[in-house]
Amino acid sequence: MHRLCLESLNVVLVHPANAGNIGATARVLKNFGVKTLILVKPKVSPLHPEALSRACKAQDILYNAVVFNSLEDALAPFHYVVGTTARARYKRSVVFPREIASYLTALSGKNKIALLFGPERTGLTNKVLDMCHALVTIPTAPEHSSLNLAQAVGVILYELFYHSLTGGASQRLPRLATSQELEAMYKHLIEALSPVGFVLGGKRGHTYRVLKRLFSKIPLTESDVRVIRGICRQIIWYVKNSQKKF
Ligand code: SAH
Repeated sequence: MHRLCLESLNVVLVHPANAGNIGATARVLKNFGVKTLILVKPKVSPLHPEALSRACKAQDILYNAVVFNSLEDALAPFHYVVGTTARARYKRSVVFPREIASYLTALSGKNKIALLFGPERTGLTNKVLDMCHALVTIPTAPEHSSLNLAQAVGVILYELFYHSLTGGASQRLPRLATSQELEAMYKHLIEALSPVGFVLGGKRGHTYRVLKRLFSKIPLTESDVRVIRGICRQIIWYVKNSQKKF
């Protein structure tokens, strides 16, 4: 039986606006043994006095917080990205935190996992949700589904922490491809499929999202990605060479 490896978990706050929320998030990370806080374009510094005061004994997490200007850069090294959303406004299915705990346990150890949280006012955009392998919603009263940011982080980490104490997974999954490797694969797929007319709805952007949704259902490894990119290379080569004959 394997336990959830908490070192694999990283909390990513996308455009947080409120210093108090950043501090309270650091505190709850420390409560549940998660060490890394990543901030993407925060509106305030993690070292804002209010953040430091709300963090209590977790100020080290704020001092060590890693700040990125772009979400793509922040997610590049991750093998699995979990998005959190209050509202089911999105076509993809969402799961409860408890339901994903055992899968994250199987992934942890060999894979870096990002838990993504959105800005206080707007939440994560559909474009960002598209970048996630899985979407998690905390069940709430339907008429008031949006939790405070730091409290949402707390509920999700609690569920995962609880699972790390009590649950287990029968196997560890192998190391998956990183977001960076997957992004390069999607670009390659579009590059190979567009010239042969595979452009869904006539839009490359839509095709990209559909392919992404499809492939994010499969835990692709680095070598799986190499095979798919090999297919892309062959299509591109074939199209180029068959055109030469005419
Ligand atoms: N007004 C926004 C909510 C923003 S709350 C909306 O309706 O989408 C800030 C962040 O906290 C969200 O982006 C999400 O990451 C997290 N959050 C809040 N409530 C949540 C819930 N019920 N389930 C999962 N995540 C939640």
